[in-house]
Amino acid sequence: MRIAVIGAGAAGLAAIRRSCCSAEVVCYEKSDKVGGTWVYVPETGNDAYGLPIHSSMYESLRTNLPKEVMGYPDYLIPENRKSYIHHDEILAFLNDYCTHFQLRDKIKFLHNVELVEPIGAEEKGTGSNWKLRVRDLRKSTVTEEFFDAVMVCNGHYFKPSLPRLKGHETFKGQQMHSHDYRRPEPFADKRVVVIGAGPSGMDLALEISKKAKRVILSHHLKETILTKFPNNVVQKKDVVELKDNSAVFQDGTSEEADIIFYCTGYEYSFPFLSESCEIKVNDNMITPLWKHVIAIENPTLVFIGIPFYVCAFSMFDLQVRFVLRYLNKEKELPTRDSMLLDESQEKNSRFNIRGFTKRQFHMMGPLQAEYYDDLADTANIERLLPVLSKLHNESSDRFLDDLVHYRDDRYKIIDNENYQQLND
Ligand code: FAD
Repeated sequence: MRIAVIGAGAAGLAAIRRSCCSAEVVCYEKSDKVGGTWVYVPETGNDAYGLPIHSSMYESLRTNLPKEVMGYPDYLIPENRKSYIHHDEILAFLNDYCTHFQLRDKIKFLHNVELVEPIGAEEKGTGSNWKLRVRDLRKSTVTEEFFDAVMVCNGHYFKPSLPRLKGHETFKGQQMHSHDYRRPEPFADKRVVVIGAGPSGMDLALEISKKAKRVILSHHLKETILTKFPNNVVQKKDVVELKDNSAVFQDGTSEEADIIFYCTGYEYSFPFLSESCEIKVNDNMITPLWKHVIAIENPTLVFIGIPFYVCAFSMFDLQVRFVLRYLNKEKELPTRDSMLLDESQEKNSRFNIRGFTKRQFHMMGPLQAEYYDDLADTANIERLLPVLSKLHNESSDRFLDDLVHYRDDRYKIIDNENYQQLND
C-alpha cells in the first residue's frame, strides 16, 4: 500500500510514524521544515515561493495547555520545571520525535500538493485510488503521483475567518487578523478593539495591553469574562459597525479606535481537494465524515486533526491508529449507509440535544474523553489515558477563571495522583 501524507506538522508526523510499518509512505510538506504551525516565521504575507505563510505563531507564545497533555501517547515531552512552555520547545520536541522515529527521509520538503482527486474508472488500470498533482517549489516542476490512500494533515489555523463588518471598507485605521500577529510593539500607544474572546483573543488582549493605550475586548459571550484584566482593558459586546475612526458596539456606545484586531478564528480549508472527493465545508462543518476522520464517499481519504479543544498530538496518534486498522484491512469498514447514519446521529446529538452550532460540529472539550474511547473501542485499539482529558479540561477551566496567572508554577498541574497516572 502507498500512502500520501499531506503536511509534516504534528499530525503528519504521527501519520508517517504509524503508517510506515505497514505501507510505503510519502509525506509532502510545502515548507522546508517539520512542525507546521509551531515554526515561528517573523514575516507575514507570502513566503519566498509566493505561497501564503502558514504559521500563526507569535513570538512570546507559551502553550495554553500543560506540556504533560501535549506529547504523543508513547513519546512524552521531557520533564522540566515548567508545565506551560514556550513554542520553540514544542518545535524542538517535534524535531526530536522526527529524529527518534527516523521520519525525515519520508518527507519531501518544499513540495506543495496542488490537487487530490480520486482515480476515475478509465484510469483504474494504475491500480491506485488517488492521483496527486504535486509542485516541487525549488524546481517549479509539477508531477502526478499515485497512491492507495491519502492522509490529509494540512492543519486548520492558517486561513483567517474575517467577519465583514458594516463600514469595514471605509474605516480609516488599521485592520489585522491574529494570523498576522507576531509582536506587541506595533500596538504601542494605540487604541485597539480586539474582536473575539477565544483563546487567542483573550491571550492577545492581555499581551498587547502592556503596550497599547486602551484595549476594548469585544465579544458575544453571555457573561462578562471574570478574569482580572489590567486597567486599560475593558469588555464590550459585539462590534456592529465601523465608522471612519471608531467602532460602534451592540449596546449603542462607540469608541475611537486606531486598530481593529480580529481574533475571530480560522476556516477549515482544503484548496487541493477536487470536487470529486465529495467533501463539503459548510460554516466550518466538514461532511460527510465518519467519526470526524474518514471520508464516507471515498474511505481511503482520511483527515487527521479535525476536532478542536483536544489533546492534539495524542488524538492525532489515536486517529491514525484508528484509520490504519481499516486501511490495513484488519477491520472491516461499516457500510456507507451505516457510516452516514452514524454521522447523522452525531449531528442530532450536537445540534438538537446539546444546542451546538455548525461551527462547533468538530468541537470536543468536555466531550473529548468519550470521543477518544469511541475511536479506540470501535477499532479495538489501545485507549488514551483518561488523565489526559481530565488535565485538559481542568486547564481550560483555569484559563477561563484566571487568564493572567493560569500558567504560573503556583498552580500545581501535576499532583502525585495525576503524575502516577501519566506514567502508568
Ligand atoms: P499544522 O501544524 O498546521 O501543520 C500542517 C502542515 O501542513 C504545515 O507544515 C503546512 O506547511 C503543511 N501543508 C499545508 N498544506 C499543504 C499542501 N497543500 N502541500 C504540502 N504541505 C501542506 N495546540 C495545543 O495542543 N496546545 C497549544 O498551546 C496550542 N497553541 C496554539 C497556538 C496557536 C497560535 C495556534 C495557531 C495553534 C495552537 N495549537 C495548540 C493548535 C496546533 O495547531 C496543534 O497543536 C497542532 O500543532 C496542529 O498540527 P497539524 O499537523 O494538524 O497542523
